[in-house]
Amino acid sequence: MGPQRAALLTSELGVSTFRGLLGHFPFRYVDRSKFHQINEVHDELTYVQLKGVLSDVRATGTGHGGRLTAVLTDDTGSMELVWFRGIRWIQPTLKSGQEYVVFGKPTLYKTKYNIAHPELELAATAIIGLQTALQPVYSTTEKLSARSLNSRGIEKLMAHLLPLVKGHFPETLNPKMVEWLGGMSREQAILELHAPHSEQHLHIAKQRLKFEELFYIQLGLLMQKFIAQQRVKGIEFNNDVDQLQKALIKSLPFTLTGAQQLVLEEVNADLFSGHQMNRLLQGDVGSGKTIVALVSMLMALDNGKQACLMAPTEILAKQHFATIGKMLSGLPIKIRLLTGSTKTAERKVLHQELESGELHIAIGTHALLEDKVQFQDLGLVVIDEQHRFGVAQRARLWKKNNRPPHVLVMTATPIPRTLAMTFYGDLDVSVIDELPPGRKAIRTVLRSDATRPKVFGFMEEEIAKGRQIYVVYPLIQESETMELKDLMDGYNSITRRFPKPKYQVSIVHGQMKAEDKDLEMQRFLNKETQILVATTVIEVGVDVPNASVMVIESAERFGLSQLHQLRGRVGRGAEQSYCILMSGFKKSADARKRLQTMVDTNDGFQIAEVDLELRGPGNIMGTQQSGIMDLKHADLARDQKLLSKARQTAIRLLEIDPKLSDPENEPIAKKLAWQLERQKEWSRIS
Ligand code: ADP
Ligand code: MG
Repeated sequence: MGPQRAALLTSELGVSTFRGLLGHFPFRYVDRSKFHQINEVHDELTYVQLKGVLSDVRATGTGHGGRLTAVLTDDTGSMELVWFRGIRWIQPTLKSGQEYVVFGKPTLYKTKYNIAHPELELAATAIIGLQTALQPVYSTTEKLSARSLNSRGIEKLMAHLLPLVKGHFPETLNPKMVEWLGGMSREQAILELHAPHSEQHLHIAKQRLKFEELFYIQLGLLMQKFIAQQRVKGIEFNNDVDQLQKALIKSLPFTLTGAQQLVLEEVNADLFSGHQMNRLLQGDVGSGKTIVALVSMLMALDNGKQACLMAPTEILAKQHFATIGKMLSGLPIKIRLLTGSTKTAERKVLHQELESGELHIAIGTHALLEDKVQFQDLGLVVIDEQHRFGVAQRARLWKKNNRPPHVLVMTATPIPRTLAMTFYGDLDVSVIDELPPGRKAIRTVLRSDATRPKVFGFMEEEIAKGRQIYVVYPLIQESETMELKDLMDGYNSITRRFPKPKYQVSIVHGQMKAEDKDLEMQRFLNKETQILVATTVIEVGVDVPNASVMVIESAERFGLSQLHQLRGRVGRGAEQSYCILMSGFKKSADARKRLQTMVDTNDGFQIAEVDLELRGPGNIMGTQQSGIMDLKHADLARDQKLLSKARQTAIRLLEIDPKLSDPENEPIAKKLAWQLERQKEWSRIS
């Protein structure tokens, strides 16, 4: 290829080497053996391939309004083709009177179908050189297309390249794995993607490359865990001392659920093992994670160590401090709170007491990470709501001791299994999958504005029974004034319907001063007000067992996990609780699916799976974690089975051949070494 086109390939696609070009995989395949007739086109959703003669090539308008049209005619009828961009490049390539093969997605415009930005090539040359009916479609750009590097042009490049690179792809899996995956070598698989022999070959090639991708992520994570276990010796706890734990459990007004006990056994086994614990505790809202965390911390205290609990927000830290304080009231344990707003004098005392060992448990926010915070002997760290803390922050906590403390990470947002395996693959995972007894499942209903009077009537009945109610409005960041207006309108109509002095209504939103917010929350908590009108500030942290109704306004605007979190604010007492999702009639398909899912299930894990399907892994886990998201072949939402298989395979491999010294596993050892080297480079850059 000449230097100009090569430079364009680099600037447009970032491709500058053979390897790079081979990594530019097709995103779709067209079955070239099938042609549609123009009068058959009836569906907007599918792609069609047509063959016909081009005529009436015409450019109209200029600038943004400019468009290029042409008419394609076959034996059955004719159809318009249209371009809105790249007109001056495309127009000269269109030859009236010639037969073309056209590929694209029809759209209904007025009463006729047309195709915008079709892929187009002269029929005379379209089929030549094809090994099979399946033709790859490559992504390209207008500039490249203008220099004859459209999809077909890239395909021709590949046709030159593929014979040159044959024999240069080392195998990266062991023979057993290759066989299990359908017997295709890495090289064959890559070649198949660019020039498939058949649907079946293509399928095997894709599965193999997906598996390989997932397998190496898992192997990398498991190796890290394995190496960490060997390198850092964990603090070894003694099982026999359990005074404080026992005393706490005895003092509880309830017995632990089976799931809670099981998790505590898992934690106990970790602490006893001599390895450092790195455990993720997943459990739905209200499943009782706090008590599990507390008992775990007391295991450390029983062993003469200190513990700390870190929460993502000040409200949450305060609430943990209050509930834990209450639970520990009869025991000789000293706890303190450290947040951004802790006064200097108080901080000093806390620092001293932590260093002397006088303070047993510190509860707080990020403030706990500051260098000034030093422990005498930190044995265990609990992190609530992990996904808001980065991995680097976790590591900072470890460094607070000569021996790294045990770490228990709690998350209230259930994460689908595949994501947990990928993002927390270096952690062990425990799940509380059982709610404390006596809880009634929250009833969720969908209501429209038209039925608002009925909803108000229902709220009135519940208040008459002595219950309290949340009414939540969405937080729209683009327009804080709009949001406030919605909220105030809502507040006004509620106070009109529920007037003083019989009713008292609290209001809380993001633009209020912290003291005022606290005061209003406190009034609701003390049952002085029956209704709390709020924006999503209440999403985390409030625990009002007497509140039994959650009304969510404009529910279609909330994400699934947010809806689930909000709903989790009710159903905390023994009463039947309700969640009322208010929404207009006009909703996107996604919004409808979200709301229906909420109505159908209370199970956070099931909700998380749907959320993953709707939003994709990147949006759920946040961009900070996107390093692992750079998957070329696999899809964490769709390839769950393959991912499980990849993880199991990696675990088994490490059990049988932990050093990867079996000659059969040499390809794996090599590839892994290469991958670790790249990760190191990557972490130096970031
Ligand atoms: P979360 O998992 O959301 O953090 P919490 O730890 O706040 O849940 O527990 C929710 C509520 O359930 C608390 O009021 C707690 O006291 C109560 N609870 C926890 N475990 C049990 C149990 N085994 N039996 C009865 N109630 C429990
Ligand atoms: Mg909690």
